[in-house]
Amino acid sequence: MYQFSRAIYRQLAPYILAPSPAASPAANHAAVLRACEQVITRMATDRHYFARPARTLFCDIRSFFPMSVQGDVHRIVTRYVGYAEQFLAEHPLEGYTAISGAPPQCRATTRKGSACQRMPLAHNGYCPSHQHLAETEDRELAAA
Ligand SMILES: [Zn+2]
Repeated sequence: MYQFSRAIYRQLAPYILAPSPAASPAANHAAVLRACEQVITRMATDRHYFARPARTLFCDIRSFFPMSVQGDVHRIVTRYVGYAEQFLAEHPLEGYTAISGAPPQCRATTRKGSACQRMPLAHNGYCPSHQHLAETEDRELAAA
């Protein structure tokens, strides 16, 4: 997944402003790269709750660029976040595993008290045999 954040950073790097003399010379470059990685991480692991990743990233990093290139920065961010979105839509499990180092797991606990190891469904995080827990959860939320 980080090939996407590195690609965004590589496109943006030539435009990044020099930091204030007090900061380390690489400070702004490090901040932009970190912001790109954080957005890609959230996209891969928390996709359903991350509504506008391109807008978030642009707002996070725009202060590191001069006014004259804000349009270019916006175009680059939108294009590459779009590539990452397309990849995640086609390969959600690979994206999650690449970032977290482990495949997603069902949220349920088995009768023996250990975590269920089965693969969850993307829409509620429970495996097919624990779907009834998602329904109970909905009822408890409605009752609360
Ligand atoms: Zn399960």
